[in-house]
Amino acid sequence: MTALSRRTLLTGTVAGAALALGAPSLRAAAPPAGKQAPGYYRHKLGSFEVTAINDGARTFPLPDTFVRNKTKAEVNAGLESVFMPKDTMMIPFTPTMVNTGSKLVLIDTGNGPQQQPNAPVGLLGANMTAAGIDPKSVDVLIISHFHGDHILGMRNSDGSLTYPNAEVMVPEAEWAFWMDDARMNAAPDAMKGAFQNVRRIFGPIADKVTKYGFGKELVPGISSVDATGHTPGHAAFTIASGSGRMLVQSDVTNIPLFVRNPGWHLVFDMDGAKAEATRRKLFDMAVAEKMLVAGYHFPFPGAGYIEKDGEGYRMVPMSWNPML
Ligand SMILES: [Zn+2]
Repeated sequence: MTALSRRTLLTGTVAGAALALGAPSLRAAAPPAGKQAPGYYRHKLGSFEVTAINDGARTFPLPDTFVRNKTKAEVNAGLESVFMPKDTMMIPFTPTMVNTGSKLVLIDTGNGPQQQPNAPVGLLGANMTAAGIDPKSVDVLIISHFHGDHILGMRNSDGSLTYPNAEVMVPEAEWAFWMDDARMNAAPDAMKGAFQNVRRIFGPIADKVTKYGFGKELVPGISSVDATGHTPGHAAFTIASGSGRMLVQSDVTNIPLFVRNPGWHLVFDMDGAKAEATRRKLFDMAVAEKMLVAGYHFPFPGAGYIEKDGEGYRMVPMSWNPML
């Protein structure tokens, strides 16, 4: 041991002893932060840079008929099997941003501005700012389907566009369904608000919106996939760069409890049987191709791998990597 390192060691020990013996003011309890850390996470997919950006999460009492073909007791047993509290649902929201090198692409926009202070959702803008991303720099906005938690973030509270420079791309089958006035008028009252939201968000830009079909490359490296069932025009996306392959499954399923139970038909699925068929088909593809799968409602950062597990599947979250 050299003299220098001995002295360093000795100094360190003395300082440590002094701290332990006295100076209680240096040991004062830190106030609790009382606030979550910013929710964004970056990873590479080939040469693309992907950023998962959280919009928050909603927690609510488990409705009696949350899963149409299962009893509340069966859903509660499922919740307990994945170490989640019974009688409660917590659903996170995580849009995906992709920087392809030539285009900055955002897929879905979260719940949008909220009335009440400290709302648990509508955090996409704040988290985007924390990630150092200017909404004006988004080139392309791709929408998976027209449920409010995916489109309401397209406008600020004053009605202006959140991403004013972005080309907006929507599934043409989704547009045809929700923009049909006869269908809106015939819809049950509980669904009328959803039709009105679609008009408020898209009405003023109707002639500028690009409508896409399934199996089309929307941006170099990002293609649409038919994932209908959840809604009549619901889309998933494959992202490919180099050897990297990712499935952005949108709402093919909800939280990972339903990855385990692909035969459970959630109230949010407008056509339960079709949604299940789509789910099994896309998950089988993800398993066969070992694709990274991003789920809009998966726990943050919202991506992992899917493996087969008996009659169902299991999600293995991706590992947090400090390096890009
Ligand atoms: Zn959703």
